[in-house]
Amino acid sequence: MLNEKVTVRSAGMSSSDVTGSCYLVECPTGEKILLDCGIYQSGNMMEAYKINGRRFPFKPKEITAVVVSHLNADHFCLLPKFAAEGGDCPYYISEESVGFVRPILEDSARIMERDAKIISRKNGREHKPVYSMADVHQALPNFRGSSEGEMHRITENVSFRLVPAGHIFGSCQIELFVTVPSGAVKKICYTGDLGNAMFEQPFVAPYEPMGKCAMLIGETTYNDPRRSAKKCQRRKDLDLMERTIREVCVENNGIVLIPTFAMQRTETMLYMLWKMFRDDEGFKIPIVIDSPLAVKLLDCFAKGLEGEAKATFDEMMRWKNIRVITDRDESLACIADPSPKVVCSASGMLSQGRSVQYLKEILPRKNCCIITCGYMVEDSLGWKIKHRADWQTLTIDRKPCRCRCAVKCLDSFSSHAQYQQLMDTYVDTAEKGCGLIWLVHGDKGKLDMKTSLERRISDICRTTRVVATNKDTVARI
Ligand SMILES: [Zn+2]
Repeated sequence: MLNEKVTVRSAGMSSSDVTGSCYLVECPTGEKILLDCGIYQSGNMMEAYKINGRRFPFKPKEITAVVVSHLNADHFCLLPKFAAEGGDCPYYISEESVGFVRPILEDSARIMERDAKIISRKNGREHKPVYSMADVHQALPNFRGSSEGEMHRITENVSFRLVPAGHIFGSCQIELFVTVPSGAVKKICYTGDLGNAMFEQPFVAPYEPMGKCAMLIGETTYNDPRRSAKKCQRRKDLDLMERTIREVCVENNGIVLIPTFAMQRTETMLYMLWKMFRDDEGFKIPIVIDSPLAVKLLDCFAKGLEGEAKATFDEMMRWKNIRVITDRDESLACIADPSPKVVCSASGMLSQGRSVQYLKEILPRKNCCIITCGYMVEDSLGWKIKHRADWQTLTIDRKPCRCRCAVKCLDSFSSHAQYQQLMDTYVDTAEKGCGLIWLVHGDKGKLDMKTSLERRISDICRTTRVVATNKDTVARI
């Protein structure tokens, strides 16, 4: 009897956690397709190092192709390791994303090399980085830009189509079409990360729904309705941001630090600040973008955008208040300079980089403020700042630091779909006739989400099976 089954396996941490996306699709005709190949991110450097450094649960040289959903590290930054271990096949990614790949992966290699040095020092023995700059340069020629909305053929049996996800610039969902020996086509859809349809995402193509499929692999970052932002939150956040900057910088000569991810969040926050203050001729406060990667990516945006979005972006970048810093000495001088300014600096979770150096300067100062605007991995420094309880000091780089500055948290800037949007999307998928939905890319809250989703699916008289995955989950469809 012909083998007609397509096997889908979890191959990364996101089957049971939020980061580390990687799924393996094995076709009955022999092709092995990887959907995403991302790193695991943790507040604990050693834990992340161990997990990212361990062996893949497949042989990289047997993989036919990788299809990448988007440019976040937890979705594609393990590809240099994959390349180093023999994964020499095409890595498909949206056309718009291609220009960003090199700066992001080179930055990632620098982080890997730095982390390995820190761990070696701590343990008193040599630890190799998860991958090196040479591995990045080995991986780069394998990337292939693929236009959105069009069918792309991987082999005669396997094709894919990218559908805009609305999450970050160039982000896509993936529709994978597998022709089995009988000639039937089985379609597997993967959401990657879905964008937040409730709030404006500047410079990002809006989400579009995928079509009918046999199986959906769906993200569940916001799997708890209590954590979801409400529609009115954006207005409140923007008011809070403007009030805080006027109070801290204009009235009290202080500094506002906004830790931002280099990719997309920097552009989003810059756009919000520009819209907020561009018509105020008296507003002289410098808006400092201090992050070598973020500055490189601003350049990628300038090159990658088209039409109206490009015109808006260029106009924003001509705003006289913007000051970009890449040079290390200039950065050190800016960190030491107490004059009022708004600083956007990476990393967004305050786990490393220049944002931590600014943090050390401004934490002890009562006239300064930190504005958080994104997801923080538990136990990261950013998470501790955001969930500030009674503590008076924080240990940074093994030194105690007094905490006197203010902290404000904005909740509407997550670029992820919120709970209700996820539920509606997955119920809609079931209604179109999907047989199996895998809930991935979420913490243990996805178990409750599974129950609620099953209830809603049964209300519309569908029998779609819903599985909250773990690392051993396997599907045969
Ligand atoms: Zn993402």
